[in-house]
Amino acid sequence: LRRQLVECRYDIDRLAPHFLSIYQSLIPPSEEKAKQKQLLLSLERLVNMQWPKARLHLYGSCANSFGVSNSDIDICLAIDDDGDLSKNDILLKLADILQSDNLQNVQALTHARVPIVKLMDPGTGISCDICINNLLAVVNTKLLRDYAQIDDRLRQLAFIVKHWAKSRHVNETYRGTLSSYAYVIMCIHFLQQRKPAILPCLQQMKATYSITVDEMECAFFDQVEMLHNFGAQNNESIARLLWAFFHYWAYCHDYTNDVISIRTGSIISKRAKDWTRRIGNDRHLICIEDPFETEHDLGRVVDKYSIKILREEFERAANILQFDPNPSVTLFEPY
Ligand code: ATP
Ligand code: MG
Repeated sequence: LRRQLVECRYDIDRLAPHFLSIYQSLIPPSEEKAKQKQLLLSLERLVNMQWPKARLHLYGSCANSFGVSNSDIDICLAIDDDGDLSKNDILLKLADILQSDNLQNVQALTHARVPIVKLMDPGTGISCDICINNLLAVVNTKLLRDYAQIDDRLRQLAFIVKHWAKSRHVNETYRGTLSSYAYVIMCIHFLQQRKPAILPCLQQMKATYSITVDEMECAFFDQVEMLHNFGAQNNESIARLLWAFFHYWAYCHDYTNDVISIRTGSIISKRAKDWTRRIGNDRHLICIEDPFETEHDLGRVVDKYSIKILREEFERAANILQFDPNPSVTLFEPY
């Protein structure tokens, strides 16, 4: 374990305006949101001609408030399957319906890990992925969106971390690095752990929202407008938090023993979860518990090669924020 007790550079807070302006430049303009809503409504009308009771929900970065400009949109088709049609039948039927409208590049990917229909709307240029009945993703999208409303620093931190991860090519699950979803969970966990805390743990508070998905109870406090002052005791700037985030993942996280958990608002042990050894393809080299599917490690895609790359990138980022005269440029230099 490489613990380093380092004090942050004395002028760190002077960097905050640079990082805030990067954050501002990444936020999608409101017209973009409006276009996405329009497209969702027109797709829903189309789907309802075949299945009147079906609903479309946005999930992922277009709905969790962590989406940058020009992202693809993720849509979930919620449909009561009465047993007649398998998921794949629904997917193929859906592709048929969309094909016959004016949409482009309609493709049903029935063999993907999460089967989807892909399409592009020529009017807006927006690409979407539509999956079937993946309601857990809709619920975890709401949890992330609710956290984002408590303290602005979460959105700032997560946007910058995602931007860094994309620039440095460590946001590629097919190559063994982490998903955007995993990075946002890491940011939430980090802000829950600050002293004083910047975020509460919504799943440990009295539940005001509760839904059962796939026999799993998902419950948490969602009256977040009551929590607007939660982080007020802590006045750390975005620059200081960014430094501390990378410093934690570079030098302080115990990769051998620890699992981060936003569900409990704490660190739990790998031993307690039986995540100490490789089982099948799950290697558990960096452990990030999913807030609802608790047996699901969001770090399971990371292998013995990519863990090295990931940790070197955390160290590079921490060192740049510590020593580089111009970190708001160097941090995002393409790999
Ligand atoms: P990006 O801006 O990179 O598209 P995103 O927020 O859409 O980011 P993704 O990692 O593409 O993030 O995931 C989309 C959504 O799918 C997430 O918000 C989450 O609801 C769900 N999701 C993704 N990965 C997982 C996972 N491993 N387990 C459970 N849900 C997941
Ligand atoms: Mg996405």
